[in-house]
Amino acid sequence: IQWFPGHMLETKNQLKSAIARVDALLEVVDARLPLSSSNPFLERIATGKNRIKILNKADIADPEATQAWLEYFNRDMKLPAAAICGTCLQDASRALQSMVSMVDRNKARKTKIMVVGIPNTGKSTILNTLAGRKVAKTGNVPAVTRHQQRTSLKDNIDIYDTPGILWPVIEPRQRGLALAASGAISDTAVDYHEIAHFAAQLLIERYPACLVERYPFLKPFPGEPQALIESVGKARGCLKKGGYVDFQKASQLIIRDLRSGRLGRISFETPKDINIDYDTDQ
Ligand code: GDP
Repeated sequence: IQWFPGHMLETKNQLKSAIARVDALLEVVDARLPLSSSNPFLERIATGKNRIKILNKADIADPEATQAWLEYFNRDMKLPAAAICGTCLQDASRALQSMVSMVDRNKARKTKIMVVGIPNTGKSTILNTLAGRKVAKTGNVPAVTRHQQRTSLKDNIDIYDTPGILWPVIEPRQRGLALAASGAISDTAVDYHEIAHFAAQLLIERYPACLVERYPFLKPFPGEPQALIESVGKARGCLKKGGYVDFQKASQLIIRDLRSGRLGRISFETPKDINIDYDTDQ
């Protein structure tokens, strides 16, 4: 989504100076789509900075895909990465500890850590878990200097939250569709039928067992997205006048099941999908 394009350059500069002021970066991405939920811009301005990539929402991601991503980041990209569930204190503390251990700490002063990531990856959730209380949620409006929020943790650690300064990049198409299917961007940003089509294709190709478990009526197993949406529509009573399947309703039902985890633990991309050139600048 191209939010506030006029402010984009200003925001980039603010982000740069905000990064310069902290000791380390805790980058939060969605474990189900770690690449599409990253912002390549961060890659460019965070070089040389202590950084850990947190693959959050690992509890609803495909464990095999998550393992492959961890190997990809840790081993191939030499970028420390950890998979966590943001509501789990043990997970969040472990990630914070590995972050802190990278920093050459002067115990006499505070260690400053900044949480970054596109909206909806779970930054506030992780912060709340670490703080043990509900920290006021920062909005998704770019406003680094004015509204950077500090949360003090034990052990002389301060965490800075940066409202909405990293935005999702919805090009190329596949990336936008993965973001939309995961719920990271609003459905209006991408054509709804295309999202449903993308989701159905993914489920048919990669998660047939999850489909059959959730929709046991799928016999024969659908070979293509339209057939899946139609079968679900028929079986779940998503019908229009005259008994025709309401594709909009049926699509919504599948996407709701997918986003909520009711279809099982599903990932939208694996390191094998990397042939797409994700390094799109804005
Ligand atoms: P932010 O915009 O990055 O601050 O994201 P939020 O913390 O507001 O989280 C966005 C949504 O993801 C919320 O509905 C959270 O409940 C959900 N969420 C956050 N972390 C996790 C997680 O580890 N697992 C699951 N299943 N959901 C999560």
